[in-house]
Amino acid sequence: MRNDVAADKEDALAANLTALETYLAAARRDGIGHVIAGGRVDSAATFETISPVDDKPICDVARGTAADIDRAATAARAAFDEWSQVPGKKRREILHAIADTIVAHADEIAVLESWDTGQPIRFMAKAALRGAENFRFFADRAPEAADGLSLPTRSHINYTVRQPLGPVSVITPWNTPFMLSTWKIAPALAAGCTVVHKPAEWSPLTATRLVELMHEAGLPAGVANTVHGLGEEAGRALTEHPDIKAVSFVGESATGSAIMAQGAPTLKRVHFELGGKNPVIVFDDADLDRALDAVVFMIYSLNGERCTSSSRVLVQRSIHDAFVARIAERAGAIRIGHPLDPATELGPLIHRRHLDKVTSYFDIAREDGVNVAAGGRLPENAPTPGYYVEATLFSDASPDARVAQEEIFGPMLTTIPFEDEEEALAIANGVRYGLAGYVWTRDNGRALRVAHGLDAGMVWVNSENVRHLPTPFGGMKASGIGRDGGDYSFDFYMETKNIALAMGDHAIPRLGLGD
Ligand code: NAD
Repeated sequence: MRNDVAADKEDALAANLTALETYLAAARRDGIGHVIAGGRVDSAATFETISPVDDKPICDVARGTAADIDRAATAARAAFDEWSQVPGKKRREILHAIADTIVAHADEIAVLESWDTGQPIRFMAKAALRGAENFRFFADRAPEAADGLSLPTRSHINYTVRQPLGPVSVITPWNTPFMLSTWKIAPALAAGCTVVHKPAEWSPLTATRLVELMHEAGLPAGVANTVHGLGEEAGRALTEHPDIKAVSFVGESATGSAIMAQGAPTLKRVHFELGGKNPVIVFDDADLDRALDAVVFMIYSLNGERCTSSSRVLVQRSIHDAFVARIAERAGAIRIGHPLDPATELGPLIHRRHLDKVTSYFDIAREDGVNVAAGGRLPENAPTPGYYVEATLFSDASPDARVAQEEIFGPMLTTIPFEDEEEALAIANGVRYGLAGYVWTRDNGRALRVAHGLDAGMVWVNSENVRHLPTPFGGMKASGIGRDGGDYSFDFYMETKNIALAMGDHAIPRLGLGD
């Protein structure tokens, strides 16, 4: 039995590597270019994308300049007039066709994403399908995206309509890049906007596949354009371009600040989804088995490179040590492995620079007197020469320790004890971020009081992060500006216009009549 399982595992890994080779052979030969107005465009310069799995170059990628960005923005501007007039039902049909195409290529996307980011295939397979779901969800809402409100008075019929904003930019990070891109691009297209997408330079592969698949599914040329390049060059030029009406950005808080300044002269509308240091608050009356599963999953899945990860666990003092021992046991047993192996739970981090940043917190924790209860080192027998780190647990930290305050964005969890509800809330809210919060208790009144008291855009009670697409997604404080999801996305990608029609002879003040 044991041998059968091992053989199946090897077969799955070998099959994934073969599938990958087909795509990579072409990428190695031709490199990756921009996709502008439906066709490939190269840049004079390129950069190399490196796989975190084997620390080797994957292929050359076009390094976009301001001139390339201008070309993409001009294409999006030219396509806007027609795309914004395409009836909602037709947009629905095209977006569903895109979803179908993504589903047909889900395995390939998952393998590519794993290779490019180091994310375990077990999570990426679902992420590709979630991307298709995002297109379906917004496809179905496209026909009513322009709908507004009726706000009558005695003298006037006031009604609102929404109209697409224009060409918009979508700038995405490298953690789960495919899924995240679809979450931004699908509502923009459903609203009738055209898009220029700049994916992160550390994960360019699946963004290119996405725009290729969109065209294969029938999206007209110029409606979605993808440009590659560095944040300071291509990203900056995109946020400064006068034809681009809005920036939908997901990334670090500091980059959000820079983008706000860059977009100010052209008065860009911005939507920011930024960093997090999300608390899970575990009270002593909670279902501790379920809380444990959720805590472990929400920090050690997706390599801990997840904006909504539960990176701080606040545990009531009476159960702190026992609960922390249980987390430590699980953390120590997390399976580190090749990301294309379906059994792997923790793969290599995205980039050597990120590994250095994440592992610098080992010393930072020790300097702050924080205990290392699990991990805290590089694995001894890494499966490949990639950027692996052990699942780590810092325990019994003071709330102001750096590992309790700063976003590490890796598989590292910090535990902090608390006495009562009041202290739990003070600790939970005592950071600069406010993206998500999680509460575990069987006392419903307390659950609601804490949920209301948390400075967080999203709170889950007795639950891991289960997304429902119509609900608002976004953060408070340094975690972001604005919400998306459901109709919130259309509010961002559309202008709301009020139209007032007089029903009769309302009094009009008369000027210029002399005495
Ligand atoms: P990052 O801010 O370094 O880069 C994100 C994107 O911005 C990249 O495409 C990059 O090229 C571009 N960029 C960088 N500088 C720019 C500039 N001056 N102008 C325009 N574009 C620029 O972020 P990252 O390291 O790729 O991603 C990790 C961060 O993303 C974490 O902080 C994480 O919390 C955050 N994130 C947030 C959410 C959320 O929903 N709140 C989701 C995922 C990730």
